[in-house]
Amino acid sequence: HASVTTNRSALQVLSSENCDIEILEKGKTINDFLDNKIKERGSTGNDLPFYVANLDVVFKRHLLWLTHLPRVKTFFAVKCNNSPAVIQMLRALDTGFDCASKGEIQMALSLGVTPDKIIYAHTTKPRTHIKYARAHGVNLMTFDNEIELQKISQYHPKAKLVLRIAVDDSKSLLRLNAKFGARLDTIERLLERAEHLDLDIIGVSFHVGSGCTDSSAFKQAISDARHVFDLADSMGFQMRLLDIGGGFSLTGNCKAIFTEFAETINGALDEFFPPDCGVEIMAEPGRYYVESAFTLATCVNAKRVDTDPMAKHYNGEENSSVKMVYYINDGVYGSLNCLINDPAHTSVTPYLHKAVDGSEQQYQSVIWGPTCDSLDKIIENFWIPELEVGDWLLVDDMGAYSISILTDFNCFERAQICPVLTAETWYALNRF
Ligand code: PLP
Repeated sequence: HASVTTNRSALQVLSSENCDIEILEKGKTINDFLDNKIKERGSTGNDLPFYVANLDVVFKRHLLWLTHLPRVKTFFAVKCNNSPAVIQMLRALDTGFDCASKGEIQMALSLGVTPDKIIYAHTTKPRTHIKYARAHGVNLMTFDNEIELQKISQYHPKAKLVLRIAVDDSKSLLRLNAKFGARLDTIERLLERAEHLDLDIIGVSFHVGSGCTDSSAFKQAISDARHVFDLADSMGFQMRLLDIGGGFSLTGNCKAIFTEFAETINGALDEFFPPDCGVEIMAEPGRYYVESAFTLATCVNAKRVDTDPMAKHYNGEENSSVKMVYYINDGVYGSLNCLINDPAHTSVTPYLHKAVDGSEQQYQSVIWGPTCDSLDKIIENFWIPELEVGDWLLVDDMGAYSISILTDFNCFERAQICPVLTAETWYALNRF
């Protein structure tokens, strides 16, 4: 059994009036919650999209992490999902937070996260954001170049610095190392520069890329980090933090096996940073925590039935000439932006909320998003029973890089977030 630390005051926040997380009555399921929301909408004529944010999933992912990577403290990457409920839930679980900007820091602080639980994990920061971090006691931050060191020495000279190194990200669906990370052959010069500026480098970070498909990338990166530790130690820096970044995903195009990743990472940590070496290990998982926690509920706004007069003639089948065209209330400029933005999540398979009988006629269908752009297509050649305006479609695994990226294009309303915890999880949280 993993031991979970929960933060009592944060737990109170979860159940308080300040927070919109609904804690279900005993025996009620997340599906009941979702059915009720759809029913409510039907009765009030509300046809806006919404997410069910199932925070039980966040809790389960946390337990899984603690069980398999007990040495690695998590700092959730806020960029991945900045909904207050997720931040409050993770705060209750006593995780840290990876913030990439003044806005993300502000948001975390406003939700009660303390500055010592934040890493400002962006290597190229606006000066005003560095000043903001300093003024609010956020002292841990990353860098990967000399000019950043210069800026930090001017605006936050007492910061605790983490040197982000570039690592092999060729096994990841979304690569980051062309943009971030110092090459190993530049490290010595960077360390000298930091020494000259009297800056305090305390650790090394890396990111193997988002949606990593091969655990060996972590092993190589941890070995690279050891090399940098040795160099920095020999120059007199008191190195004490290794940050293994993000990249963990169990769904979408990645389907990595978490236990296998954990085994490789634990092996590499034991080899290069054994438990008695005094180095604290942390990670910045984003997708891992939230990808499967959000289900999007979207409703059919409009419908067109297209017929191809020739098709029937070709194959003689009833309805083969009919193509259903649906327009739903969310799309690639909204919650489903992963379809154009996220190489780790390039397709979705919506399913019907209403019960359908297996014998119902299926129609070739295409589903479009609501905007005026033809790029806004969700799925085509999709065989489903006939839908009517007002029917609901559900899309699972929509928690990562969705709400934090969506736009207001055409001024369609954003999906509302309905966060929920089952009574069982609520009791489990309180027991720890
Ligand atoms: N840390 C940093 C610095 C990142 O840039 C990202 C994603 O871009 C993450 C953490 C989170 O990565 P993931 O969602 O793959 O875990």
